[in-house]
Amino acid sequence: KWSSSSTTPESADRLLGGLLSPDFDEATCLSRYEASRRWKQPSPFPVSPYLVERLRRYEANHRRCGPGTAQYQDAVAQHRSGRRHSAAADDRGECRYVVWLPIQGLGNRMLSLVSTFLYALLTGRVVLVDETPEMEGLFCEPFPGTSWLLPSDFPYKRGFSAESNESYVNMLKNGVVRHDGDGDAAGELPPYVYFHLEQIHLRLQNHTFCDEDHRVLDRFDWMILRSDSYFAVALFLVPAYRAELDMMFPAKGSVFHLLGRYLFHPGNRVWGIVERFYDGYLAAADERLGIQVRIVPQMAVPFEVMYEQIVRCTREHGLLPRVTNTSEPAGVRPSSSSAKVKAVLVVSLKREYYDKLHGVFYTNATAASGGGGGGGEEVVAVYQPSHDGDQHTEARAHNERALAEIYLLSFCDRVVTTAWSTFGYVAHALAGLRPWMLAPLDWDKMRADVACVRPASVEPCLHSPPPLVCRARQDDLDPVARVPFLRHCEDVPAGLKLF
Ligand code: GDP
Repeated sequence: KWSSSSTTPESADRLLGGLLSPDFDEATCLSRYEASRRWKQPSPFPVSPYLVERLRRYEANHRRCGPGTAQYQDAVAQHRSGRRHSAAADDRGECRYVVWLPIQGLGNRMLSLVSTFLYALLTGRVVLVDETPEMEGLFCEPFPGTSWLLPSDFPYKRGFSAESNESYVNMLKNGVVRHDGDGDAAGELPPYVYFHLEQIHLRLQNHTFCDEDHRVLDRFDWMILRSDSYFAVALFLVPAYRAELDMMFPAKGSVFHLLGRYLFHPGNRVWGIVERFYDGYLAAADERLGIQVRIVPQMAVPFEVMYEQIVRCTREHGLLPRVTNTSEPAGVRPSSSSAKVKAVLVVSLKREYYDKLHGVFYTNATAASGGGGGGGEEVVAVYQPSHDGDQHTEARAHNERALAEIYLLSFCDRVVTTAWSTFGYVAHALAGLRPWMLAPLDWDKMRADVACVRPASVEPCLHSPPPLVCRARQDDLDPVARVPFLRHCEDVPAGLKLF
């Protein structure tokens, strides 16, 4: 195994500034301490000592309450017997849980899982992950000496939706719980609450991020949560959590970058794909440019339109050189050993973008860059790891390739990503890179006026903000006008992102 000259094991901070616990066996999860060698160092965001302390505290609590412990058995027995708790705040169990159920593609899943973990940190809950067959072995265990996998005999895993009676918002509606006073109408609570945070027409439900509702939610020892969204942003809108969040994240725009690096470690099968591809194609290059092209069937941008936009973006921002016309003999220059090699990693379900870009740089020489840019020859080598054609979230091997490609993108020096794509968000946020984001198409003109934009931060976008008026009799508020570290997203105008 050989590594690129720019990142030596010695220079890399393998524990990522204290983010990672040193208490793991390396062989069971090769990526855990190896990924840090591949990311550009140092990270743009230092880790606050307070966050490190909170993570170690979380880990200790997870070991105390996790699967296999007496506490877990007790809590499950309570849950199973349907025994109700009284609504009094001091009747909470010793161990409290949030069960995460997966929905949507991998990018959405990673955004909602980081958000769920942040929620668990803030509320003293233990996160348990329902590892469905298509996710088996995708990620390593993130917490030492315990497991985050929901034991398979856990009874409630399927059939939850906005319509479920167990949903918090429906409990409110049906008078099972009350937001005011000390809890619920009958003086006792159901054994668990379902928290529905799936976007409905790009909104989360009302009463999901209001202080008074979080006080009620807090009384349930068991919460089952389903979300497709990066609702971590919405936690910053709940006054009760702000002081903690301020201490954990002095830089607000670092939440996914830090928690994603903490939580996600590709399993050994995925890491094998990453290492083989990185070492074989990318490591020796002088520079790596990632280009992620996400075409969704519901909004299928035609190939020519998207290709033109990619070329415009990479030209205008000096990401790729022009080529000379080799049909003229003058265009052929002898190659020189001093030429810089730029590896271009194309990541897409479709293969035509790779085909065309590869063809262009294979057939033609690059024009020496003039205009005071430092000049010099450049060899552009274009690669694509896989092209599965369509999304197949139900297939494990497909998800393994997807995760491998997210990590490969995150190891690039610069990345071009597609608007609206959570897959792209995860890659650049893990990297700590502000991407060049291909702007959404103006469908009337069949063109994006501006080819790509630079987002204000490396954070993912919450596409679906919750209403903030809660119970006030007034129009909804725009949180961006009230919270200094929030912006609307460059690609999703109503969306919110940390800055
Ligand atoms: P989003 O739909 O772009 O927001 O991202 P998601 O990750 O939530 O869902 C898209 C899914 O399609 C991914 O998880 C993959 O399963 C698949 N997919 C999309 N783009 C790519 C790609 O470039 N490479 C691979 N291997 N899979 C992809």
